[in-house]
Amino acid sequence: MDTLQELIRSTLEFYARFDVQPQLESAVRVFREEVDELIEAAALGTDPAHIAEEAADVMVTAIGICLSRGVDPAALIEQAQKVVIKNDRKTHETHAVNEQGKIARRTD
Ligand SMILES: [Mg+2]
Repeated sequence: MDTLQELIRSTLEFYARFDVQPQLESAVRVFREEVDELIEAAALGTDPAHIAEEAADVMVTAIGICLSRGVDPAALIEQAQKVVIKNDRKTHETHAVNEQGKIARRTD
């Protein structure tokens, strides 16, 4: 999780450097812009480095939304670690790919 910690630290310092307290409305707007850019890059599919760049922008702007609502950076890291643990525990016995292509808990 070192990179996530660095990304959060950098994002906090970025806002502080410009003396900006993230606000929900603007944080959501830039997040949506970055999601659209990621989707567009992925749809084109011609430049993997650009897709990765846009995905990183989505991560940064998601952090901005959290900061606008006072989420403790440590809590964000903790939640990311929980996702890692949960995903690592999912197996073919517990989950399957459903009709929508989503990996979901088995119902059978
Ligand atoms: Mg972007």
